[in-house]
Amino acid sequence: MEIDSLRKLYVEELKDLYSAEKQILQALPKMAKKASNTQLKAAFTEHLRQTEQQVQRLEQIFEALGKSPRGKKCKGMEGLLEEGKEVMQEDMDEETRDAALIAAAQRVEHYEIAAYGCAITHARVLGLEEVADLLEQTLVEEKHADERLSTIAEQEVNSSALHVTL
Ligand code: FE
Ligand code: ZN
Ligand code: FE
Repeated sequence: MEIDSLRKLYVEELKDLYSAEKQILQALPKMAKKASNTQLKAAFTEHLRQTEQQVQRLEQIFEALGKSPRGKKCKGMEGLLEEGKEVMQEDMDEETRDAALIAAAQRVEHYEIAAYGCAITHARVLGLEEVADLLEQTLVEEKHADERLSTIAEQEVNSSALHVTL
């Protein structure tokens, strides 16, 4: 593999992540609004604050690379968020809607975990250790967000969604 082509791929990966984070920034306030469970609402609101920081980290990296973060749309994230909306438009009770919100949000987190994981690996291959460390901070936040959603699903939402059907 040529180092120059890996560098190009790498910038594209970061642009993709930047677009993904910007889309998430738009989606999270709506998701928080739709959530009924207070812990779920809080998780979305807090992850919104983290996402703002994650966008800033990416901007910092682009500045250091002397490149613009713009010019690419993450179609993967667009599709994930589109699907999430589709599910939400159907007629649902509060608990089921919360369960659907969690399922959509975890798809988003898993996409980010995969994408940041690759970006970190490529940064290290390219010898960009400081960039890798910054991205690592974000990856840890994404993993925590995912785990928190799992916990809320297990302890709160799924059991109350089940009571509706029983
Ligand atoms: Fe993120
Ligand atoms: Zn993407
Ligand atoms: Fe996230």
